[in-house]
Amino acid sequence: MAVQREADNHHIKIVIVGLGAVGASYAYALLMKGVAREIVLVDLNEKLAEGEAMDLKHGLAFVSPSVVRTGSYEDCRDAQLVVITAGAAQKPGESRLDLINKNAAIFREIIPRVSEHLNRGVILVITNPVDVLTRFSQEISSLPAERIIGSGTVLDSSRFRSLLSAHCEVDTRNVHAYVIGEYGDSEVPVWSRVNIGGVPLSEYCTGCDRSCGSASSEAIFEAVRSAAYQIIERKGSTNYAIGLAALRITESIVRDERSVLTVSVPVDGYLGIDNICLSIPTILGQSGVVKKLFTKLEPEEEKALLRSAGIIKQTFQSIN
Ligand code: NAD
Repeated sequence: MAVQREADNHHIKIVIVGLGAVGASYAYALLMKGVAREIVLVDLNEKLAEGEAMDLKHGLAFVSPSVVRTGSYEDCRDAQLVVITAGAAQKPGESRLDLINKNAAIFREIIPRVSEHLNRGVILVITNPVDVLTRFSQEISSLPAERIIGSGTVLDSSRFRSLLSAHCEVDTRNVHAYVIGEYGDSEVPVWSRVNIGGVPLSEYCTGCDRSCGSASSEAIFEAVRSAAYQIIERKGSTNYAIGLAALRITESIVRDERSVLTVSVPVDGYLGIDNICLSIPTILGQSGVVKKLFTKLEPEEEKALLRSAGIIKQTFQSIN
């Protein structure tokens, strides 16, 4: 397994389709971390892509050598990764699922053009509703499903970990917790598998002198589930944390790190779920999905996951 170091980014080319709030934050994160040698920006609004390329390029003196430029779908030919953030974003009060028909129409234009040129690379879908659009992209593309993944609940798993970490006053990196299912209102926190430094949460709580109870866990998860609504209400979009979440997924793919991340992947057969994409912990490498980790869940978690899968399926079937 080849694990790549930061400076060794020679052959990494990433194409970003959609340079709005999310695409631009992701491009900035990529540049700061020196992950790619070449970053190509594509947007329907060519002037916007040009402006972002100019702005990012003017910081090249301060980061690892990279090229940032505008381009076209032909640039996908030798890209390791194509990241799609193009499409409408939620307005205050709107759910992710509400965006489906607008964004499916946009994907009908983009995905065939990406797949026509992409040779070996992976497609990462970020646009919402991400699970439905990931499955939809697989349907309208000629690429193997393992090479089209969605960012899924990577962001909400990170929100979950950071809120638990603040509550328990432990470094976020030592809090292991996953949100699975839809990236949206029906997502499922896997409380039964939360652990802090390898100690199951229930055991950790017994050794703690605060008595928090179930009201605290409900409040923590509610803050995760409503995070996007809260942020959109205040600043109009969410962009920095998703930029970092996408960066983390990118690193695992282009460096073949084989990290476990809750990306949105095809699920067929697990608990009777079939023919949809949803988030489960997945090992990610340079060819996309390496292995999906199907864990045993508690009965109420299983029930919630099946409900979430049903909502994704219904939305997928409702695409015009
Ligand atoms: P935005 O409106 O700021 O940007 C969207 C960009 O897409 C615009 O620049 C627009 O010109 C471009 N675009 C539209 N149609 C296009 C086409 N056919 N070809 C190329 N480009 C096209 O939106 P945003 O805030 O950047 O959000 C983008 C998407 O990401 C939304 O769907 C949002 O809900 C989603 N999002 C996902 C997550 C996640 O965790 N998966 C988190 C935040 C936002």
